[in-house]
Amino acid sequence: MTGASTRADAIEAVRRDAPGVPITDDAELVRRRSTDRSAMLGPIMASEVGGSLADAVAIPADEAELIALVAACVRHEVPVVPRGAGTSNFGQSIPLEGGIVIDTSRIRGVLRIDADHVRVRAGTLLPAIDEAARPIGRELRIHPSSKRMSTAAGFVVGGHGGVGSMRHGGLADLGNVQGLRVITVEEEPRALELRGRDTGLVQFSFGMAGIVTEVEFPLTVSHAWRDVIVSFPTLADAMHFGDDLTRADGLDVKNCMPMEPGMASYLTPLQAHLPTGRAAALCMVAPASVEGLTDLAAERGGHVTMDVAMGDGPRSFPGYEYTWGHAMWWLRKGQPELAEVLFLLPERDPVGTLDELLSRVGGECWVSSTCQRFAGRPAPQVALGVDGSVPGRVVEVSAAAEALDCLVVNIHQAKLGSASIRDFGPQQRAFKAAVDPRGLCNPGHLADDLVDDRDTDGSESARLVASGWSSRWSTSGEQPAR
Ligand SMILES: Cc1cc2nc3c(=O)[nH]c(=O)nc-3n(C[C@H](O)[C@H](O)[C@H](O)COP(=O)(O)OP(=O)(O)OC[C@H]3O[C@@H](n4cnc5c(N)ncnc54)[C@H](O)[C@@H]3O)c2cc1C
Repeated sequence: MTGASTRADAIEAVRRDAPGVPITDDAELVRRRSTDRSAMLGPIMASEVGGSLADAVAIPADEAELIALVAACVRHEVPVVPRGAGTSNFGQSIPLEGGIVIDTSRIRGVLRIDADHVRVRAGTLLPAIDEAARPIGRELRIHPSSKRMSTAAGFVVGGHGGVGSMRHGGLADLGNVQGLRVITVEEEPRALELRGRDTGLVQFSFGMAGIVTEVEFPLTVSHAWRDVIVSFPTLADAMHFGDDLTRADGLDVKNCMPMEPGMASYLTPLQAHLPTGRAAALCMVAPASVEGLTDLAAERGGHVTMDVAMGDGPRSFPGYEYTWGHAMWWLRKGQPELAEVLFLLPERDPVGTLDELLSRVGGECWVSSTCQRFAGRPAPQVALGVDGSVPGRVVEVSAAAEALDCLVVNIHQAKLGSASIRDFGPQQRAFKAAVDPRGLCNPGHLADDLVDDRDTDGSESARLVASGWSSRWSTSGEQPAR
């Protein structure tokens, strides 16, 4: 550190060098900005990230203040941890090596919008984007189920997909993020504009590859979406329906989550529409497509139990707030010891594979599955809730899923590597080295995939068997490596 011997001295030096930027070490704010929603995934992750604290929180008002702050932090070797709303749940927002959390909530606003795309500042909340797009009949193609809380940059850098992914794929798919403005973490920060495929250098990078100040998304046609619940005799029926719906190109459907009866029983506000002992699927569908969806459901023995304008259901939650990450959130309310195993089913016989897995692992499991396209084809993403208080249960269930050719991801580690939802491959590592030469940008989150952690680290997370999603698909040539 230049002229500053302790971290506290370094923070003081940063304050002096960036005098206009509010930097606080208020203990309560620092504690709140040092956590995210990781504990939601179960006790393994909670033990991985617990206790890490930032030294201070900075809240720059605009890009110029952010650049002054970053320059000062680099000069005094203080780590920087970019942060949106802090709703991520893979430990990625946790300042593992302390430093200054950069709260981007004041760097917000829509910069420009037309029928095809929208460009916003990093800290813009996602609902503000759809509000700006609605008058011109457009909306975001994809958003997380946490849309109401999340920021534009937080979604791009920390998220992977969500509502809309059954039609448009994930954020990593070419075209789903059009442009990013990235500030490098150097003593003289540069502003880079990444376009097209190059946005993949920063997408799902856990905030380690520079600070994003602007995001450009493509837009799609907006609809007066309806929240529709369909009841089915069995999980297999609901899963087959989900697959049919994902492939039904003539229907405007944005979301669908099949689930088994046990899981359905935890979505407490919806109980009047979820008959006991039956599986169900929650869908988000355009008005003109409800008829077609009803026909498809009937072919699998299903019938519609709720059909309301989005957000007009019980307690006014939009239906998507029971799906994706929210499914586990509802389940956790009734099962505080819950841990989650997340995987993609194989293309060949996904429904039979899930049945076989459930019979092999036995015990209590809660199953929800979100429909999505992955690398261009239907690949249901299953979230299996298991009892996290049983030592080794997550490892055991993950190994059983892998043995059946499911692609498990290790969501129980705060590091990004080949077992993650997306790999952080050689091109991303090279980009990070170029924009963050001193390794100060959210340090501690990069897995060293050259080391076999399972030999050296006895933790449950390290023992977890997980292929990751990107690596297996990329080696088979289906998904271009980034
Ligand atoms: C109930 C629930 C449901 C969820 N559902 C989904 C879902 O459907 N799909 C999904 O993908 N995710 C989901 N998530 C995870 C998360 O909410 C989303 O990914 C969300 O978009 C993150 O946005 P955020 O603003 O909270 O980002 P944060 O949590 O603040 O940040 C996420 C990552 O991005 C980095 N980052 C933030 N801002 C910047 C910036 N300006 N520059 C560089 N790096 C930055 C951070 O360092 C961190 O690594 C869910 C989470 C919860 C709790």
